[in-house]
Amino acid sequence: MNRLVRMLLVAGSLVLLAACTSTGTLNILSSVLGGGNGMSDAEKAEAVVKSARTVAKSFEDITPEQEYYIGRAVGAVVLDRYRPYTNQEANHYLNVLGRILSLVSDRPETFGGYHFLILDSKEINAFATPSGLIFVSLGMLRCASSEDTVAAILAHEIGHIELKHGLKAIKTSRITTALTSAALTGVAVAGSKEMAELTTVFGDSITDIASTMINSGYSRSSEVQADKSAVRILQAAGYNPWALVEMLEAMEQRLQPGGPDFAKTHPKPELRIKEIEKKLAGIERNQPVHPQRQSRYRSALGEL
Ligand SMILES: [Zn+2]
Repeated sequence: MNRLVRMLLVAGSLVLLAACTSTGTLNILSSVLGGGNGMSDAEKAEAVVKSARTVAKSFEDITPEQEYYIGRAVGAVVLDRYRPYTNQEANHYLNVLGRILSLVSDRPETFGGYHFLILDSKEINAFATPSGLIFVSLGMLRCASSEDTVAAILAHEIGHIELKHGLKAIKTSRITTALTSAALTGVAVAGSKEMAELTTVFGDSITDIASTMINSGYSRSSEVQADKSAVRILQAAGYNPWALVEMLEAMEQRLQPGGPDFAKTHPKPELRIKEIEKKLAGIERNQPVHPQRQSRYRSALGEL
């Protein structure tokens, strides 16, 4: 086989691949539109907006799949701002611990599953994006002193996902268009003005969530609710729920007022502790240290 023929064959299979991809794209669009082959991009966009408007009026209508695409985009914003900490053992430990906690939460399953990543930052910070991406900074993990206290951080973040606090941060006026764009994720329809507009509004919705999560913080009542979930999750997994109070006490020592971290996005630790203690009446604070937990914690996170 000469070189030219080989090149033509390769080109032919690329065309075939492109054809398959575009058929796949059409199928996705058709399922969104309920048929619509032969429509122009503008007509497709208009039909998608119309169909979304009839089904999605609030964040409660967001499907697990749409939530996944929204959460993934918010995760990209977090990773644009922070570098990941690449220690594999530490990240693996966080993922095993976090997934066990998520299994005993009220939301053990999300569309893309729960994933945990350490951020290489001295800030005392943690973020939970819709659908299950949880980021915890080195600065936050350095406030912990045991597996129970690390579990307390993760359980609070799982609480935010369980209660869909991220999605609630999207401005209601954007919900329909955000969902429409999420439905179209992966569909390559370039060059359409309407599609460009949808993409912009999707971006605005992601900004709503990311800026709430990173800059302004959720409402005080959302934080109290996430702490309440954390206490329940810790108890269900066999951890001492007082670890959440211990974690907040350690953070209180280190948070700088006006800092760009939990000091900015969360109520003062002392206020949260007061609320949490109401839920801990009757539970012994000083429980025996579990030697295996402590040794695996030290081995994975003890040297951060
Ligand atoms: Zn929080």
